[in-house]
Amino acid sequence: MNLPAPEPRSVLITGGNRGTGRAIAEEFIARGDAVAVTSRSGSDGPEGALTVAADITDPASLDAAFAEVEKAHGPVEVLVANAGITDDQLLLRMSDESFEKVVDTNLTGSFRTVRRAIKGMMRKKKGRIVLISSVVGLYGSPGQVNYAASKSGLVGIARSVTRELGSRGITANVVAPGYIDTDMTAQLPEDLQQQYRSAIPAGRFADPSEVARVVAFLASDDAAYVSGAVIPVDGGLGMGH
Ligand code: NDP
Repeated sequence: MNLPAPEPRSVLITGGNRGTGRAIAEEFIARGDAVAVTSRSGSDGPEGALTVAADITDPASLDAAFAEVEKAHGPVEVLVANAGITDDQLLLRMSDESFEKVVDTNLTGSFRTVRRAIKGMMRKKKGRIVLISSVVGLYGSPGQVNYAASKSGLVGIARSVTRELGSRGITANVVAPGYIDTDMTAQLPEDLQQQYRSAIPAGRFADPSEVARVVAFLASDDAAYVSGAVIPVDGGLGMGH
């Protein structure tokens, strides 16, 4: 007997024009969902996705992006808060501006995105939220006080959302990748990349698709009872955190 195909879900990924976000979008597209991505330019999303413009440091632009997605695909049922930046500097030299910029994008930006997304999820009594953190949020990293602070804060968001909205069919989880082959790591000096690789039990960086498949699992029916979890996807780098 052929079962009817499940209804495509409205999936939104922030920063889906390149890197990990793009791979996550491609994974959901392959699984048959109605996928939208944000990019700051409003273009360059993967084929098969609706691309909308949003800067996650600007609540009005986020609101407009959600409105566009809701019009095309219905309320967002799966949100992947992926957009993020680094601005590395040793602590003594880290400026307030650098700290605030990274926290405003990675932490406050995710907060703004989740806050906007839950409106529709609460109405539908259904929703999946996946926050892309980093091994660095739990493990620490020299030169990344701003980034680590922003990424560990996502655990507090996911766990509080779980307690606040867990009874309404909404799950919120954190994925903590190690090093991924994207523009973000390509900008690191080659000797530093080698140093990082040698510290990773797997001996290599992740392909973005390896993170994408874990995100898709957390958004699937199989993960309905997983919430407030921090799932490392780091080749063993952060074991024990
Ligand atoms: P990339 O640098 O390749 O891509 C970053 C994405 O975030 C881009 O789409 C970018 O958009 C978007 N973005 C940045 N700032 C904003 C903003 N203010 N508003 C909207 N979008 C914004 O990064 P990765 O794919 O490597 O990283 C994706 C996520 O994974 C990030 O949260 C990162 O911290 C995390 N991560 C990455 C790791 C790695 O090794 N690469 C390891 C662990 C976690 P635009 O194209 O407009 O700049």
